Amino acid sequence: MQIKLIVDPILSWYRREKRILPFRLTSNPYKIWLSEVMLQQTRVNTVIPYYNSWIKSYPSLASVAKAKISSLLKIWEGLGYYSRCKNFHKACKIVVNDFQGIVPSKLENFIALPGVGEYTAAAVLSIAYNKPYPVIDANVKRVLCRLLGIRNYSQYNKDRILRNLTKIIPQKYPGDFNQGIMEIGALICKSQNPDCKVCPVQQFCIANHRGCPERYPKKIKKKSVPHYEIVTGIIWRGNKFYVQKRDNNAMLGGLWEFPGGKVESDESYRTALIRELQEECGAIIKVCKKIGAVKHTYSHFSITLHLYHCIEDNNKIDLKPNMKWIKPNQVEMLPFPKANHKLFKILDESGWNV
Ligand code: SF4
Repeated sequence: MQIKLIVDPILSWYRREKRILPFRLTSNPYKIWLSEVMLQQTRVNTVIPYYNSWIKSYPSLASVAKAKISSLLKIWEGLGYYSRCKNFHKACKIVVNDFQGIVPSKLENFIALPGVGEYTAAAVLSIAYNKPYPVIDANVKRVLCRLLGIRNYSQYNKDRILRNLTKIIPQKYPGDFNQGIMEIGALICKSQNPDCKVCPVQQFCIANHRGCPERYPKKIKKKSVPHYEIVTGIIWRGNKFYVQKRDNNAMLGGLWEFPGGKVESDESYRTALIRELQEECGAIIKVCKKIGAVKHTYSHFSITLHLYHCIEDNNKIDLKPNMKWIKPNQVEMLPFPKANHKLFKILDESGWNV
């Protein structure tokens, strides 16, 4: 198969069939970059409302550079992988300081910014600046493995795909070509049940000719992730309760939470909660009723989060800048992780009072 034959069918199909998405209606490099950051590890439909509200609040790169990270995290709240937001903020500040606020169009300058990897650099530069850099994401990998009949996605084969794409990417429309392959992967050449009948490159596809496209590339079994039982307490002082901000360098850094931690193997949930709250914020507490439990999955582990009402026994919590006493209606003002929002939902339904 002559790989260059796929270019025209992909470009015409993309122009005809592409989904109309808000970040496809702009040529502004800042907006395209933001969308690519949000789309990492995240589905398009999840990203759209986040993208829209971000752009409404921060219409320009300069406005992001000026913003407080806590305000940006509030908009990002629930989208996950919060380091993306923090890196984007840092990178926008660098662009304002070192590049007069213009997203750099040179690969070496752009890829040196925080959070910009090979994929993001190629995607943004090809879409926003028409630079002929091919992208390889999960969709492109699947489509190309099938087209070229590659079962084993080794480094050698990854380089082979990249070499082929570099050779054929059109100088004039590199962004459309990249997005075309990604769109075929998202809409037609799915992991299960690819719809080969409507695929614009079916006639060139080796996996299709062999009659078993789903076997390409070979699936790698996912490792099972550990599960932890976590106890957490809502400590009341009058009509306010205690929350604390996670360390900026920790996972979910900069987000607020109820205090708590892991249950050790020899502990009851209540004993673990008393220990954790004393260790975390110096509180001696009386554990009251259990409010509920929620499950949440992160990329490398999963948790069950058990929430209890608690009352302070010693008024020993000494407030530092990363600690607050707030009322239930103030949770809207701070960014919290998604697992905490699941707890808020239970509290909204059962009533917040102890
Ligand atoms: Fe994927 Fe089928 Fe198209 Fe091949 S023909 S690229 S397997 S959808």
